[in-house]
Amino acid sequence: MRAVAFGFPKLGEKREFKSLLENYWKGRINEGELHAGMRDLALWRANLYRENVDVIPSNELSYYDFMLDTALMVGAIPQRFGEYKGLETYFEMARGKNALEMTKWFNTNYHYLVPEIEGEDFRLFINKPLNDYEFYKQKGYETTPHLIGPYTFLRMSKALRRKGGELPIYEMEKIEDREQFERLADKLTSVYREVLASLKEAGCQGVHIEEPAFVFDTQQWQWDVAERIYGELSKVGVHIALFTYYDSVSDYGRYVSLPVQALHLDLVSNRENLSRIKEEGFPEDKELIAGVINGRQPWKANLSDKLKLLEELSKYAKSLSVSNSCPLYHLPVTVEPEEELPEGLKERLSFAKEKLGELRTLKEAFNGNEDAIKEVKKSKELLETAFGENSEVRRRITSLKDEDFRRAVPYKEREKVQKDILKLPLFPTTTIGSYPQTEEVRKMRTAYRTGKISEQEYKEFIKKQIEHVIAFQEEVGLDVLVHGEFERTDMVEFFAFKLDGVATTNHGWVLSYGSRVYRPPIIYGDVSRPKPMTLEEITYAQSLTQKPVKGMLTGPVTILNWSYYREDVPKSEIAYQIALALLDEVKDLENAGIKIIQIDEPAFREGVPLKKKDWQEYFSWAVKAFRLCSRAKSETQIHTHMCYSEFNEIIEYIYQMDFDVISIEASRSKGEIIEAFERFRGWDRQIGIGVYDIHSPAVPTKEEMKLVMERAMRVLPKELLWVNPDCGLKTRRWEEVEPALKNMVEMAQELRQEV
Ligand code: GLN
Ligand code: ZN
Repeated sequence: MRAVAFGFPKLGEKREFKSLLENYWKGRINEGELHAGMRDLALWRANLYRENVDVIPSNELSYYDFMLDTALMVGAIPQRFGEYKGLETYFEMARGKNALEMTKWFNTNYHYLVPEIEGEDFRLFINKPLNDYEFYKQKGYETTPHLIGPYTFLRMSKALRRKGGELPIYEMEKIEDREQFERLADKLTSVYREVLASLKEAGCQGVHIEEPAFVFDTQQWQWDVAERIYGELSKVGVHIALFTYYDSVSDYGRYVSLPVQALHLDLVSNRENLSRIKEEGFPEDKELIAGVINGRQPWKANLSDKLKLLEELSKYAKSLSVSNSCPLYHLPVTVEPEEELPEGLKERLSFAKEKLGELRTLKEAFNGNEDAIKEVKKSKELLETAFGENSEVRRRITSLKDEDFRRAVPYKEREKVQKDILKLPLFPTTTIGSYPQTEEVRKMRTAYRTGKISEQEYKEFIKKQIEHVIAFQEEVGLDVLVHGEFERTDMVEFFAFKLDGVATTNHGWVLSYGSRVYRPPIIYGDVSRPKPMTLEEITYAQSLTQKPVKGMLTGPVTILNWSYYREDVPKSEIAYQIALALLDEVKDLENAGIKIIQIDEPAFREGVPLKKKDWQEYFSWAVKAFRLCSRAKSETQIHTHMCYSEFNEIIEYIYQMDFDVISIEASRSKGEIIEAFERFRGWDRQIGIGVYDIHSPAVPTKEEMKLVMERAMRVLPKELLWVNPDCGLKTRRWEEVEPALKNMVEMAQELRQEV
């Protein structure tokens, strides 16, 4: 048996990748130095692969994003970028003023650049797979190029499509039209053929082609296209291994009959793939690359169970390899440097580097190596001992009753009570929570975390910031104020620091896009709140003003979706545990006189499973988790916030969350999103319309913002509407925020006069 690994994180042990890119962008290193640094990283990772597994992938180290690289490979460069001038254009497309749109990659927290296909003529433009292959070869490594497959490339791209009659309008959209898709697929395939042929000529024996889009709900004609693509590509005569991951393939039968030599299947994220193998068998003439080591969660595997699984699989597949379930770039590089984890946790963790070791152990144990078999036994013993349990939390969970998920009084009645208490004007104005996180704020936080300033000093500093932001909001004339979130690094990590059962790492960075990294917290045990988490800052802010200050919490679904989580209890239960901790916070805030509490759920939509059939199950617990934590008094107005949400298909679930007010992004779609609420019959909750895009430094004019409000008023009663930016302001500068909010408030005031 062989061990096959792929998708090792690009970042490097000391975040070298990030430094290289950022130093280059800042002009601190030149292009030559950038390439040299990247080559070092490339060789470092090749060695890691070589030491542990049997295949060294190439073409994995993109300078920004693999979808962008694929677009360049096939010459899909929108006209607005002009003539391609190397790295300059590359980064222009990635992060320039008119960059490609960025969006989430499947249901992960990685963001890719969405290729834009303007014409229909693809051509081999930058043959990165070949260049990379040759680079490694020169250095003495025989590698297997990894490519994003043509089918996935098209499904994840947008193409120009002619709309309308006499005056044609062209719009960039996802390619859903069958004929267009087929035409593009044919042309694209011929470019891929060229790439494969060039690799073959350079001596390359085989390629790995990743087609994760085969896991989406896929229609038969789409499978026909896939068949055509691989029928063509197989003619080149290089060994092709296909990879699918993140879920089960949408049609097992059609997948395994594609004319390729090896097939990878994700055997972690779903049960279907395994059942299909057992029920339908696996083709005799193909190799099964079994994705049994989880590429998305940082836990050491129970190698004994995995070994049994491999033994079982070997009955179905004549030729078997062991692999990771999906790319390893969803994990930090290594646990080695983590010194401050809770007792007993480190030995249970396995990040990307450790996963490579697990693959090696599994392969060796399978092949009968004694030492490896001992390792396998050890992992079983370790994982079968209880860890992170909290009996009080367990008791609370088991005693939950239906009414714990319901507010005492229906919305209509709450609305009246809250109106009397809050006495807000028509179109109340507010902000989403964070205010600019200036250099000074970030410095002080680091100084505090590293012990350079005392807790006392830090708290004083935060108080000053709160005083400033409250005075600022009063002066601008906002109706509902916030405390500014200066004490928070990140909306999830902040709560992770405060919750028991959740660990944070010091070096566990993961790329979310470009050079941007984040450190996902690790939910390893039962979650509870040892003491209030936000009370001090919120009540201090409220003490400074007569206007209502919003309590500001991150919701259970978002905390869960943006963290790693344990696998020994269902996700629903973890969500309820977090929700109960948040509920305690809600009660404390209420008791301290806070009248409005916002519970952010920007990741509520993201957590949605890839296949529609799994939606119901997800929403049933996600909605309940939100309701559990927001079971406030009728007098307390519960807000939630979601950005970049496409509500169309999920609006009924959003409604079931039973909040009083939801704030949403509405500016980039020029208010289009609001129509989802119109289509939902009987929508009666208040909506905060995100009237301007906080991702842009541009100061919005009153007119633009008014347009968004007018669009909203056409479909919703004006009494339901609030006015706010589309998200938090933490990435903006004060010079931008001040005029923007002034315009926003003035716009609302004018609108009150006009209607
Ligand atoms: N309250 C958070 C903030 O303002 C919300 C952030 C988000 O939705 N991503 O920063
Ligand atoms: Zn937001």
